[in-house]
Amino acid sequence: MRLSRYFLPVLRENPSEAQIVSHRLMLRAGMIKQAAAGIYSWLPLGFKVLRKLENIVHEEQIRAGHIPMLMPTLQSADLWRESGRYDAYGPEMLRIRDRHDRDMLYGPTNEELITDIFRTHVGSYKDLPLTLYHIQWKFRDEIRPRFGVMRGREFLMKDGYNFDLTKEDALHAYNRHLVSYLRTYERMGLQAIPMRADSGPIGGDDTHEFLVLAETGESEVFYDSAVTDIRLGEREIDYDDVAQCRAVMEEFTALYARTDETHDAALFAKIPEARRRSARGIEVGQIFYFGTKYSEPMGATVQGPDGAQVPVHMGSHGIGVSRLVGAIIEASHDEKGIIWPEGVTPYHCGIVNLKQGEDAADAACERLYGALVAAGLEPLYDDRDERAGGKFATMDLIGLPWRITVGPRGLKNGVVELTSRRTGQSEELPPEAAVARLVEIYAGQPDPAGV
Ligand code: ATP
Ligand code: MG
Repeated sequence: MRLSRYFLPVLRENPSEAQIVSHRLMLRAGMIKQAAAGIYSWLPLGFKVLRKLENIVHEEQIRAGHIPMLMPTLQSADLWRESGRYDAYGPEMLRIRDRHDRDMLYGPTNEELITDIFRTHVGSYKDLPLTLYHIQWKFRDEIRPRFGVMRGREFLMKDGYNFDLTKEDALHAYNRHLVSYLRTYERMGLQAIPMRADSGPIGGDDTHEFLVLAETGESEVFYDSAVTDIRLGEREIDYDDVAQCRAVMEEFTALYARTDETHDAALFAKIPEARRRSARGIEVGQIFYFGTKYSEPMGATVQGPDGAQVPVHMGSHGIGVSRLVGAIIEASHDEKGIIWPEGVTPYHCGIVNLKQGEDAADAACERLYGALVAAGLEPLYDDRDERAGGKFATMDLIGLPWRITVGPRGLKNGVVELTSRRTGQSEELPPEAAVARLVEIYAGQPDPAGV
């Protein structure tokens, strides 16, 4: 992409309405624009990041054997009356009436809708296990939408639902989700720690939230600092291997890590003092096992092996996709702007032409641009007729992990400059070598293909 043809409305001033750094940087970098309280338009740069996160989520869900689909944002109130949640949900649910006076709602979550699909089409235990998911906009009329996309009213969520014959099978689905979520967050360059949590309006006994530690997080958390040393890394996971998924779940949840709702001061006190931490965190996902809470009242049963009808065991599992954009920025920025992890960056590198309009510099940038594209990378070329300082400031603000600077002085010696956004370190090398270096860097970060 050439910046002269792109739409990147960066702001020079700090927007006064933004209280936290991710909100400020998303507005300044031209990623979002508020449409109404807690409702945002995603401008091109923000949309690109959002899409990358969505695609990573799809890839990891599909890898875990979960099946993508799409349910609508608007739902009929009737289904929610069946489960008893139409009245129970409270003012966070946006209730709508259509022209025929039918009660509708903008879905805050989808347990009822998916259970209805299941009961209509699945009748035998032979069709289980089954996990369906979608990535769709949700609406919750939050009392205090704030922090930009972190606590919006309209937000993008991946929500998945497992249907199993037995509690044991459903707990395997729970563990499978836990493992696939760990993988998802690690690919996004994030550490999200599973913490024992409270189930809230979804209900159920077993639930973990995934928290990214950050001072601006809205959740209060307590944990043993040793949990921050555990990584999934590159290990091979067989999602059908019940014992392996359970072992990973146990490894990640054995140490004390809880949100304030389930915090137990006596247990916490047993951790060696030097490892006791209380901090703040951003909830980026949650998994639930809730058994037959929805299947029973809604009649989602299957015929079991002995011929009897039994309600299925279910769980639901959510990732806050739009919130993650903010969470990644909270975890990765400096005073100049965003620093995208390579796995989610909107463009792989920036090209800054120090002498726009000069034949040699322009030609070198064009060649470089073409070579990067031919190598399968997406560069963002700042080809505007602007001062170098302004171009550098824009690149630093929007946070591409790598920048190639092309100027007449370097070109005389046949070199360009490759700079890491994270370390600030630069290296002079021939343009072909810069391309080869970037290809190597991104080889370990294949672009997610989506569904
Ligand atoms: P919170 O406690 O932050 O209100 P929740 O526990 O009610 O969230 P879940 O039902 O667990 O939310 O939804 C799954 C995920 O969706 C959450 O982990 C979070 O990342 C995201 N999410 C929930 N509410 C919002 C919101 N208002 N804005 C953006 N993302 C949200
Ligand atoms: Mg939650």
